[in-house]
Formats: sequence, C-alpha cells, structure tokens
Amino acid sequence: MIILRSKDEIREIRKAGSILARTLEKLTKYAKAGVQTKELDAIARDEIIRLDGYPAFKDYKGFPANICVSLNETVVHGIPSDRKLRDGDIVSIDVGVRFRDYCADAAITVGVGRISEQSAKLIEVTRKALYIGIENARPGRHLTDMSHAIQQFVESNGLSVVRALVGHGIGTKIHEEPEIPNFGKPGMGPVLEPGMVLAIEPMVNAGTFEVETLADGWSIVTQDRKPSAHFEHTIVITAKGAEILTK
Ligand code: MG
Repeated sequence: MIILRSKDEIREIRKAGSILARTLEKLTKYAKAGVQTKELDAIARDEIIRLDGYPAFKDYKGFPANICVSLNETVVHGIPSDRKLRDGDIVSIDVGVRFRDYCADAAITVGVGRISEQSAKLIEVTRKALYIGIENARPGRHLTDMSHAIQQFVESNGLSVVRALVGHGIGTKIHEEPEIPNFGKPGMGPVLEPGMVLAIEPMVNAGTFEVETLADGWSIVTQDRKPSAHFEHTIVITAKGAEILTK
C-alpha cells in the first residue's frame, strides 16, 4: 500500500529535506582531493545534528556510518573510510535525514579536481535522468512512466541503468512502498496521486548494468568496474506535478 501523506506530514518531510539539502551543499564544498571519505561522514553527522535532524542511515539494517560515500566503480552503499579523495575520482554522496518522525533521502555525484570527459558525461546524464524522472512523476500518470523515461534517456546516451537497485516510497520509514525502477515499460504500476512521497534515484553505469556486492557486505560495485553515478531527490506528488522536498 502506498501511503498518502497529509499536509502536516509533508511539512515535516520538507523540513528533513531542507536539512539534507544544506548538508549535501556543505559536503560538496568539502569533497576535494586529500579529504578522507570518513571526514565527509563526520561533517555530515555534525551538520545534520546541528540542524536538529538525525542521520537516518546510521545503523539502518546495521549500516556502520552516517552517510554512504561511493567512489568511481562503487554504485551505492560505499562505507566512509580512510581513503582520501584523489584528483579524477567521482564521488557519490547519499544522505538520509530523519526529522522527528519523518525521513528524506537524496544523493549527488560530484567530480574531484579534473575528471575525464567520460566521467563528466556520466554525471551530467545521471543528473538529467533524475529530472526527467521527476517531470514524469505527475498525478494520473503510471509509476513506470518515469522508469521508462529514465531508461530511454540514459540508453540514448550510450550508458546503462542499474536494474538490481530501485527508488522507493519514503515517509516514517526510509524505505516504503512502492519500488521505483529506473527501467521498464511505461503505463504499468500504480497511478500516481497527490500525497505520495517518493525517492527517485537513477543509478547509471558507464558500462554494463550488472552489479555485485563487495566482501564488506555493503559496497555495490559495477561488475566491469567502470564508473557509476547516482542522483536522488525525495519528491511529493501534488495536484500540479511534483514538488522536490530535498532542496
Ligand atoms: Mg534512496
């Protein structure tokens, strides 16, 4: 069942989203060569708590950090570590924030220093794919209309969309129904209605869409070890379209 959220609930999620957006903005400034990914984790934790939120990924299903930091071939769920960012890396930063009883979820991918043309294109196509998904998230449309639009756009740019991981509903829990694939036929799944709160998150690979999990039990990497990018926003379906809650 997809829960329709009230105006009051959406206000709380918007507050979580605004804490999250400010945190991502800060992290973007710190994502420079020489910075350890665990330093980004500490900055995120301090900022979220300073803004009266709580890092929603901490201990979620046992996740051992506050945020996910996924470098290069890591698609998602990278664990912050001693690893320093290097010129040419691309780094995906995924943050979850709880504010009182409600959650928001968003991610960005940024380049460190000078990145390859291929990596720059990967980031830009993934960012645009998210906004194409959001444009297709409108009341009366089927859920997979956005899935299809994302896949078409990504593949028309010679890149691939991850199949094994999907976006999701969000509210009092970080992951709620429905699942939101970034691929598939249009016109399927539930019809979108005002009050649905959704985390849309295309994960786009430079090579194969196939992924695997590393021995740490968390890091999802591309099977061919080519780079991957990830962008995510939490949105609410409104009478007119979609409102982004994580900005
Ligand atoms: Mg998510």
